[in-house]
Amino acid sequence: MKPPRVGVLALQGDTREHLAALREAGADACTVRRREELDAVDALVIPGGESTTMSHLLRELDLLEPLRARLADGMPAYGSCAGMILLAGEIVDAGVPGREALPLGGLDITVRRNAFGRQVDSFEDDIDFTGLDGTVHAVFIRAPWVERVGDGVEVLARAAGHPVAVRQGRVVATAFHPEVTGDRRVHQLFVDSLTSR
Ligand code: GLN
Repeated sequence: MKPPRVGVLALQGDTREHLAALREAGADACTVRRREELDAVDALVIPGGESTTMSHLLRELDLLEPLRARLADGMPAYGSCAGMILLAGEIVDAGVPGREALPLGGLDITVRRNAFGRQVDSFEDDIDFTGLDGTVHAVFIRAPWVERVGDGVEVLARAAGHPVAVRQGRVVATAFHPEVTGDRRVHQLFVDSLTSR
């Protein structure tokens, strides 16, 4: 069977690590910067980085509404950290009006941007993750947490009592960065979900 074509939104952030992780997980991975490239992928990864900058660039490049439309149409997606923020339906502490992070609405969740930042900017933790054996070494960098999950949203992992990994259908998000650890299990779970029925 043909491997799924998975795009990585490559406007800003840690694109390269996700491309490598996706390829190791068996996907046909490519970068997405333009409308035609978005139209050509089966699924999209939104990397970590800065959600306000990515939102600004999405608007500048006329990708914001096309991306919202594809998500509304059921395109599978995975977002890490800034990607989780963008995939949310609602963002708390989104930033300065006019330069704020803009929700794309792939997940019926409310995220708080830079939530852990007030306690500690960056930290690492070994956490349980539904569907994976053993723990996942999770790297949090000015990470968000999930404040509200809607019906149909499954919490896959928690840190400090807060949901930090969620799934709704074939849209997945983690507040941490599995792409930087060399552990490909989260990407594998996502890529496998694209080929299963
Ligand atoms: N704090 C960043 C934001 O608001 C996210 C940080 C990250 O992706 N590591 O987008």
